[in-house]
Amino acid sequence: MSDSIRQPTIWLRSLRGLRMRLAATYVLLFALALVGLGFVFRQSLTGILNQQSERVLDEEWRAMKAYLRFQRGELMWTYDPEDAEEAYAVDRLRRVLLLTDERGNVLELSSGYSALGSESIQQIRSVVQSREPISVVRHDFRGETYLVRMGIMRDQGRAFFVAIGLPVEDTLRIPDHLLRQYLLSVPVMLLVIVFVGWYMAGRALRPLHQVAETASAVAGGNLSLRIAPRGSGDELDVLIGAFNQMLERLELNFQQIRQFSLDASHELRTPITIIRGQLEVALLTAETREQFREAILTALLDVERMGQIVKSLLLLEQAESGQVVLQKTQLDIAKLAEELVSQFRIASDEKGLSLEVVAHGPCWAEVDRVQFDRLLSNLLSNALKYTHAGGRVEVILEQVDGAAHLTVSDNGQGIPAANLPHVFERFYRVRETTPDPDRGLGLGLAFVAWIARAHGGRVEVKSEPGQGSQFLVIFPAPAPVDATGPEPESTAGLLS
Ligand code: ADP
Repeated sequence: MSDSIRQPTIWLRSLRGLRMRLAATYVLLFALALVGLGFVFRQSLTGILNQQSERVLDEEWRAMKAYLRFQRGELMWTYDPEDAEEAYAVDRLRRVLLLTDERGNVLELSSGYSALGSESIQQIRSVVQSREPISVVRHDFRGETYLVRMGIMRDQGRAFFVAIGLPVEDTLRIPDHLLRQYLLSVPVMLLVIVFVGWYMAGRALRPLHQVAETASAVAGGNLSLRIAPRGSGDELDVLIGAFNQMLERLELNFQQIRQFSLDASHELRTPITIIRGQLEVALLTAETREQFREAILTALLDVERMGQIVKSLLLLEQAESGQVVLQKTQLDIAKLAEELVSQFRIASDEKGLSLEVVAHGPCWAEVDRVQFDRLLSNLLSNALKYTHAGGRVEVILEQVDGAAHLTVSDNGQGIPAANLPHVFERFYRVRETTPDPDRGLGLGLAFVAWIARAHGGRVEVKSEPGQGSQFLVIFPAPAPVDATGPEPESTAGLLS
């Protein structure tokens, strides 16, 4: 009891744990993705801004070449000082500028450029020797970054070294600034994602909650509960399907167990009462040794009957719960029927009944020999039991579309229509039709039905009170690969 109370709590607790883990994984993945995305974004922005700085420096370089011209062998700034735009452009170019001759003698050095430190003579020579201008990154004494373009200007065999610088500190700062802002907003985004993740994990686990609740209800004894599948065909639907199947099987087994206990207690109660009555009467009234002996003998007969009931019930229970494994082989059941009928011949002769096997050649079916014999024995003993002297019992075997049809037919007392639907139920007997000594257990036809079902076939009954009964058992056609049975013979024969 305490277990069933504790169980839901454990379930719910573990589900909560699962939900937490799912949400945490979700949030962690998002956090990694967001931070990674920030760094990728910063790198791309830095690349774009660097390209842009290079382009601006290109333009500045071209402008410098337009304003710095050779005049009478000297390099001169050539512009109209009255033109505010030109004056501003030249002023801007000269802010970070170094101009030397090819030996490194400084011709012009702006205060902006001197803050970057002096240029080495080797650097100047290497630039003079190379044809293409080069770009380098420099830092001034405050740590500010500059992009510097160095190149040469030639005139009549003379070469001059020119370097202009472009402050790019802002360009470098922007991506870092944006990244900082972005990273500061990540916790806010994560907070939203925590809520979304928690909600989504809860939604994903809802069917599991249902399974848990149903399992608790089942633990409380309600086996008829089922969980409705969601129709999405995902893993949870598979789990729900498996869970429902398990419940179905459990319910069936419980029903069988309940039925078994009911049947057993019901059937055993009568003989126990009878035995008790007989012994009590004997105790009170019997006087001689002979009278006691008779009472004990009668009681023993009833005890034997009880033993039979218990044995048959256990056997049927084993069969119906799938514990009996059939050993099926392809057999001529006409031959089997003939062999079995011969064992009943003495009994039929004694009762004055005619007993025959009617078969048109061999009749092939995949059967378990032991169970087939049990099926036919039950049908035959019933036919003999419920047919009056002078009657006729026939076992007919036919091959119909590959299937084997076995009919046990009699012209005995028959079964009333109202009883017919129940004759295959356990312990069902059509009462008042049979004299007491012949009283059966009411389990014979339940066995017949199980054996037919276990062979993949079925049993049908037709009966008319006063006219007789026909029990037809159909064994299905064997699988094509196993269909090795020879062709039915054309000559009709009467096997008896
Ligand atoms: P039982 O041991 O009582 O024969 P069965 O399960 O074999 O139990 O049969 C159930 C009932 O069906 C019997 O009690 C009987 O009334 C009826 N029955 C079975 N076979 C025949 C038959 N060939 N003719 C008439 N009644 C039959």
